[in-house]
Amino acid sequence: MHQVQLAGLTVDTRHWIGGQRVASETTFESVSPVDGAVLAEVARGGAREVDAAVDAARAAFPGWRDLGPQGRGEILHRLADLIEQHVEQLAQLETLDNGSLLRSHRRGVMPRVAMNIRFFADWAMQKLSHPVWQTRGHDNVVTWDPSGVAAIITPWNAPLMLATWRIGPALAAGDTVVLKPAEWTPLTASVFADLCEQAGMPAGVFNVVQGLGAEAGAALVAHPGIARIAFTGSVPTAKAIMRSAADNLTPVSFELGGKSPFIVTDDADLDLAVDLAIEQYDNAGQVCLSGTRLLVHEAIADAFSARFAERAAQIVQGDPREEATQIGPQIHAVHLERVAGFVERARAEGATVAFGGDRNDELGGLYYRPTLITGAKPGSEILTAEVFGPVLAMQTFATDEEAVEVANATEYGLAAVVVCGDRDRAERLTKNLVAGTIWVNCFFVRDLGAPFGGSKKSGIGREGGVWSFDFYADVKNTVYAPTGWKE
Ligand code: NAD
Repeated sequence: MHQVQLAGLTVDTRHWIGGQRVASETTFESVSPVDGAVLAEVARGGAREVDAAVDAARAAFPGWRDLGPQGRGEILHRLADLIEQHVEQLAQLETLDNGSLLRSHRRGVMPRVAMNIRFFADWAMQKLSHPVWQTRGHDNVVTWDPSGVAAIITPWNAPLMLATWRIGPALAAGDTVVLKPAEWTPLTASVFADLCEQAGMPAGVFNVVQGLGAEAGAALVAHPGIARIAFTGSVPTAKAIMRSAADNLTPVSFELGGKSPFIVTDDADLDLAVDLAIEQYDNAGQVCLSGTRLLVHEAIADAFSARFAERAAQIVQGDPREEATQIGPQIHAVHLERVAGFVERARAEGATVAFGGDRNDELGGLYYRPTLITGAKPGSEILTAEVFGPVLAMQTFATDEEAVEVANATEYGLAAVVVCGDRDRAERLTKNLVAGTIWVNCFFVRDLGAPFGGSKKSGIGREGGVWSFDFYADVKNTVYAPTGWKE
């Protein structure tokens, strides 16, 4: 009842609290977007389970803190090894649960999950130091002290990858963790807990409370016993979390939505521009960083559109477990309806659906075709709101100044892509773009040491490298006087 066999793994669907499996009175279903199969009945936690998990994490905190970066690093490296040994099973399980491509889970995402753990363990062991400097002969010594329990709340579009991007630095910094995974994709978090135990992580250092956002999530972020809230998800949820966090003044790190521009200048390599534009449909458009607003110079717009439409028609949509598949299903029927609603409203407002714009009838289920909208009115919903599906909108521009102005005309500022033939011109363009990450003539190149986050409503704070430790730790300056010391 509490355990299901999936992808060659025994998946326990209860919470993981203080090194024990804990059941709840009620459960919720985890349904596969691949074929609608019910995968598991998962424990539906609330305030009671959250209290227990935060208590366990607080009790484990002093021991984990006192292990220091080396002691923690050894355990975290064993955990990374175990993840690497289970890449295939984790990849299959994640694909069943969230419908993303198996081949990308296998080759990119799950190895990266291991890297999220290893990289931050190494950073804490080797790089977390600041040169001592003097003030009137006094030494300033900066340390990153573990801060307590980090509450981590994650979305469904890249479940284990996004969870470990937060868990890795939190644990390496010496915090203990309570994770609340997304209710549409609860399963890999549970396996991750088993791997933590096998790696020798002390009980209570890592905890999972499964459940719905309004129940388990809300109880977790309101808890006075947590020291940090790391949240990845949507803007409305972030607002609710921030209100709740205000009562305890709990620091937040938010990674939220986007409506990123994808700018193609008239001197751009057109083949490269089309290749990169096609990548914006990856993960069936369920990518926060996606450059969903194609802003193309008017001189090359016709040539770009023709090639882009031709390439988009060749995209293979289908079962995400098949090697040839490029785009799988949407995560959930509720989400598919939401995506379709955006397109219908754009159509009703007079925009043109250049291609796509409907469900893929051959496949049925949750498959929505790659879609391009043109001719939308400036300021309209389809040009400003995050769709989070395989729906791109195209506009043209005449000057680079106009491109920047249109690019910035959104409440988001997560990412931007620029395809441009001239480095000086690209530097002028990127200078005034408001975005946490800008890719020039590339997409999705991400170094874990680089700062990552969003401007405006795309987030609060930056993580990656030392920026992660700045968030999860209490940064402390101790000032040592030159006098008062006994010989
Ligand atoms: P969501 O905000 O609906 O849910 C995210 C998580 O928050 C889930 O675990 C959910 O259970 C929980 N939650 C919901 N209500 C809550 C509440 N009141 N209190 C506490 N927790 C609550 O987002 P989603 O639909 O799962 O994910 C899609 C969104 O995430 C998109 O906007 C996307 O752009 C964003 N995202 C951002 C990044 C990034 O790095 N910036 C990465 C991936 C996804």
